[in-house]
Amino acid sequence: MITVSEKHELKRAMADAHGRVVLVPTMGALHAGHLSLIQRARMEAGTDGTVVVSIFVNPIQFDRADDLEAYPRPVHDDLAVCMTSGVDVVFMPTAEVMYAENHSTVVGESALSRHLCGESRAGHFDGVCTVCLKLFLLSGCEVAIFGEKDFQQLAAIRRMVRDLDVPVEIIGCPTSREEDGLAMSSRNVRLKPEHRADAPRIYRALREALAWRGSTAAMLEHVRGEIETSGLARIDYLTCVDAQNLEPVDTSLTTTKDLLLAVAVHYGPVRLIDHVRLPPRLLS
Ligand code: AMP
Repeated sequence: MITVSEKHELKRAMADAHGRVVLVPTMGALHAGHLSLIQRARMEAGTDGTVVVSIFVNPIQFDRADDLEAYPRPVHDDLAVCMTSGVDVVFMPTAEVMYAENHSTVVGESALSRHLCGESRAGHFDGVCTVCLKLFLLSGCEVAIFGEKDFQQLAAIRRMVRDLDVPVEIIGCPTSREEDGLAMSSRNVRLKPEHRADAPRIYRALREALAWRGSTAAMLEHVRGEIETSGLARIDYLTCVDAQNLEPVDTSLTTTKDLLLAVAVHYGPVRLIDHVRLPPRLLS
């Protein structure tokens, strides 16, 4: 495994790369969710191919300076994970390497990012699309692997690739969860113990929505109540959207659309997201 932090070093490493190049973009603080993406990348690349993992806490996708500052950066642990999981190249640039001081060009996504996280995180998905396009170009990857946990991000990346004819295949991987159901996230380590103990209720509540028999309005009310019951969690949004275009659906109508029930929750300064896919029969 080689680790590089400059663009020209990555270019040189990729010029020597064999076979299919598969990229896993991350912000580090690697956990089992990231590992499942790396394993999928290894499978896609095969024994001849090259797995590239980028570790970069992308400043232009953060809307809050304190969140960027507090983002965990356990570099040595991350490199150890990469070393033992079949990664060939780790790209770990600084912000100065990635962005010229007077950089002024971004990829703008204007439809899928209007709701859910896009509503409370202005510019977030433009930052995500911009950095991913740069990483695609720098690595020359044929395939890039993303987690379904960040459903809106995956949808925005797929849309960018389609709209801009980016020659990269995008693969989504299922959400990895802790034993108690909490979706794995690099932010989980920042939860206070009482918040960590409370947080599994998010997925528990979402799963209750899957089995719900009454009206959708009552279901949303129930899920909200379940998440907020201890008074520790503050819901940013709890929304039913069309899983194809991420537009909110009128929950008073019956629909055959493929739906997503998505939630973002604050525990103190830590914001967690999760979702479930809802069968259309649930709407009434
Ligand atoms: P991040 O480091 O949080 O930017 O995430 C890097 C990649 O890992 C993204 O494609 C995420 O969607 C994915 N990812 C993060 N958490 C999980 C998880 N619990 N299960 C599966 N993929 C995940």
